[in-house]
Amino acid sequence: MSLGGKMSNSFTRSEALLLRARAVIPGGVSSGNRANWTPFPLYYARGDGARVWDVDGNEYIDYVLGRGPLILGHGEPDVTDAIYHQLKVSQFFAGQIEGEIELAELICSLVKNVEMVRFCNSGSEAIHACIRLARSATGREKVIRFIGHYHGWYDGIAWGFSGVSAKPDAPPLPLPMSLGQPSSDAANIVAVEWNDPEAVANAFKNCRGEIAAIITEPIMFNGFWSNIQPIEGFLTFLREQCDANGALLVFDEVQTGFRVSLGGAVEHFGVAADLSAFAKALSGGVCLAAFAGRRELMKRLVETNTVHTGTYNAYPPAVMGALRHLTLLAVNAGAKLQRIHHHAALLERGLRDLASHTQLPLLVRSSPGAVTTAFRVAPTQVIDHRSAAEGLDLGLQRAWHLALQDQGIRITPEGLWYMSAAHSANDIATTLDAAQDALQSLSS
Ligand code: PLP
Repeated sequence: MSLGGKMSNSFTRSEALLLRARAVIPGGVSSGNRANWTPFPLYYARGDGARVWDVDGNEYIDYVLGRGPLILGHGEPDVTDAIYHQLKVSQFFAGQIEGEIELAELICSLVKNVEMVRFCNSGSEAIHACIRLARSATGREKVIRFIGHYHGWYDGIAWGFSGVSAKPDAPPLPLPMSLGQPSSDAANIVAVEWNDPEAVANAFKNCRGEIAAIITEPIMFNGFWSNIQPIEGFLTFLREQCDANGALLVFDEVQTGFRVSLGGAVEHFGVAADLSAFAKALSGGVCLAAFAGRRELMKRLVETNTVHTGTYNAYPPAVMGALRHLTLLAVNAGAKLQRIHHHAALLERGLRDLASHTQLPLLVRSSPGAVTTAFRVAPTQVIDHRSAAEGLDLGLQRAWHLALQDQGIRITPEGLWYMSAAHSANDIATTLDAAQDALQSLSS
């Protein structure tokens, strides 16, 4: 059986592995979104700095970077040494290590309003914990979330991807992300469009005294048209609405944390959250995530029966890797992060230039450290899930992903290009040449 798809690189070994995998691993992948890869999910052998090699020996400049975590690039020696060292000393105590305190202290010093931190293993878990804490602290159950934002795959929050209104002027009913989610969870989700202050104010009016928290990605990162910025004053408005209604503001900083700024979105936008979830760029490629916030809230984990546990929480090799990683990122007033921002801006400018010289409806957006490309024919501004979906050409998006891959450039299928400190100006120049060829192959 052949998996099909037109390509100039050879993927025969990947193809054979995928066919073997599909007998024992559903879809051959361990995370559903990896199945979206064009022409099919590939297998990889090695990564080094800004480059990866697949099992067929094809080399890529990598802008996937583990979907964000590898902000210092693949195999940063100081980070991998710290992980190996801890592995040799001891894998695991199910007790504490000093590095855990140092990492928590570092996070508290970097992110304003964060006074205490707890560690866990994934962004989904960190979000789960933030919501539990918000409900515990307010004694309320409902959460306002935004349509199209992604906060992990857990049942209680994976709602609101779109919806229909029960009555013409009623807010949309949140839709589940997946089959198998209990419909009762929907009762606690109020799903509204991002960047719509009126919808937020109405949600508070309609559910007076019932809202525990607003959860938001400070920049809407997920979906096929990511990097949607909050409109002027929107995050401040959320802060004010929470304060006025006795609710908490939860920032999902899984994407923005330690990337848009060392102090995350809180620093970048100057809006304080009550609770925040961190993962990806916190850890530099080890399984570590964190939730954090004001002392009085976080102390509920010991002073009340608000439960957070986990066998692998603060897994020592992950803690030591993340500590080294975050220290490197923060050193010299964040010099590495500044380099990442500078190179992301270079890439963005180059892609915009290519977009202005092609007939294809290529659009480029960015936030510090990450660029997004999409193909969209609608004239309207993209401010939310609804407008983001308008006029998107997903066929071209797939072809672009494949054409770039054929040119040795690896981006996410959704069109996200993460930048790392390992990428050089030369890498970006090579990338832009390859992108030009990819665009030409799509036009011909
Ligand atoms: N929140 C946001 C904004 C994310 O982008 C993601 C993952 O991409 C998550 C939460 C879930 O994190 P994880 O995949 O580590 O569970």
